[in-house]
Amino acid sequence: MTRPEPRGDLRSLSGYHSPQLDVDVRLNTNESPFAPPAEFVDAWLAGLRAAALHRYPDRAATDLRAAIASRLGQPIERVFPANGSNEVLQTLLLTYGGPGRRALVFEPTYALHAHIARITGTEVITAHRNDDFAIDVGHAVDVIGREQPDVVFVCSPNNPSGTVEPLAVVEAISDAADGLVVVDEAYGEFAPESSLALVDDDRSLVVSRTYSKVWSLAGLRLGFAVAPSWIVAELDKVVLPYHLDAATQIAGRVALDFVDEMEGRVRYLIEERERLIAALREQSGVEVFSSGANFVLFRCVGRGHAVWDSLVALGILVRDFSSWPGVEDCLRVTIGTREENDQFLSSLAAVLRESEGS
Ligand SMILES: *Cc1c(COP(=O)(O)O)cnc(C)c1O
Repeated sequence: MTRPEPRGDLRSLSGYHSPQLDVDVRLNTNESPFAPPAEFVDAWLAGLRAAALHRYPDRAATDLRAAIASRLGQPIERVFPANGSNEVLQTLLLTYGGPGRRALVFEPTYALHAHIARITGTEVITAHRNDDFAIDVGHAVDVIGREQPDVVFVCSPNNPSGTVEPLAVVEAISDAADGLVVVDEAYGEFAPESSLALVDDDRSLVVSRTYSKVWSLAGLRLGFAVAPSWIVAELDKVVLPYHLDAATQIAGRVALDFVDEMEGRVRYLIEERERLIAALREQSGVEVFSSGANFVLFRCVGRGHAVWDSLVALGILVRDFSSWPGVEDCLRVTIGTREENDQFLSSLAAVLRESEGS
């Protein structure tokens, strides 16, 4: 038997990896440390019980789109929901990327932007960020003018750095680009500014959001784009029919009845984030980057991976970026409960004392 080969341009790709280890304190994948409210689960299951499961779900997910639109004060025609914001990004790239087209990313940033682009046959071009991980407008406008990308990804707050781009920067990028600008706001509710204010039928700009982080629903797969209606119409042609199942549609709609609870969790995590940043700044040998998300990036000069290893030995898992270009020696810690954050801080202090002494 001859084994069929995957498409040539896929052969060099490696899959997406986020190592999971069995530890007490898991602060590595930016999930919420809190489950959604029990009343939400009850309401969701009641809705599911009433659903006609022998029928295909509402293909247009009309109730869900209407609920999201009304919460954001946008017309329903501007909302495109999908199975996680990763499916939103994939659909955008299937529609506006593809063979012969190019996507621009500002590194270091969320690896899946480049990864999904390549899977869809889209060529990836990279621009860089400043040392503090902000995008330099002059550099961005320059690269966009020279390369004329079909799609430009702006991640704000940026994963893994936490950097929030000012609206003026996003606007300047959007003004410079002839292609589509995608602002990934997976952590949008944790940040002081959002590009949702820029979404308009006269601007080729899309904001993508997710229920995974802010809404404590990573176990479901739901995200959405807010985009000009003419873009949503194109995405609706490309995405698989009935891609969004009834259980997910109902959950996404019912979750929006629990906005106060969500906002309470977000406030708690923002307070904890600021407390953690202040505590990390007290540590000698640690460089901390400010964050508008539910995680914090910090650098342990010359010993990033060793610190990660020692934290794992103490039962604390954070994300190791120490060998990534641009974030050398950096680790990223997700904001957990107060207790988890305290465990992380005291373990880190112990690890750093130990390695100072040796
Ligand atoms: C976590 C994350 C996502 C979320 O993807 P989902 O598919 O919605 O879970 C998207 N973008 C960024 C930058 C992320 O960090």
